[in-house]
Amino acid sequence: MKKLTSAETIVTITHYQNLLSAEGIRTEIRNQHLGGIMGEMPVFETWPQLWIVNDLDFDRATQLIESADVEPHGAPWTCSKCGEENEGQYAACWNCGVSAD
Ligand SMILES: [Zn+2]
Repeated sequence: MKKLTSAETIVTITHYQNLLSAEGIRTEIRNQHLGGIMGEMPVFETWPQLWIVNDLDFDRATQLIESADVEPHGAPWTCSKCGEENEGQYAACWNCGVSAD
C-alpha cells in the first residue's frame, strides 16, 4: 500500500478512484469519515486520502492523476481588458465582464 494523494474533498478522491479503477488500478480511500473532527487535527491530515493497493501501480497512477488534474472546464485565463486572472469555468471576466475569447 502506498499513499498516492489527498484532496480537500471526497468528491475529488472518488473521481480519482473511478479514473484509476477504469485503468484496472485498485485503490482504497482513507480518512473519508474524518470530516466531523475537523478542527481537532491539522486540516491537511483530515483530508481524504487515496492509497494504491499494489505498489507496482504507483507510477502509472501518478501519471493518470496528473493528467486528470487538468481543469475540465479549461485553463485559467487572464482578461485582455483589465488583466484579472479568471478561473477556467468562467466564460466572462468576473471583474469587468469581458468575454473570454
Ligand atoms: Zn476583465
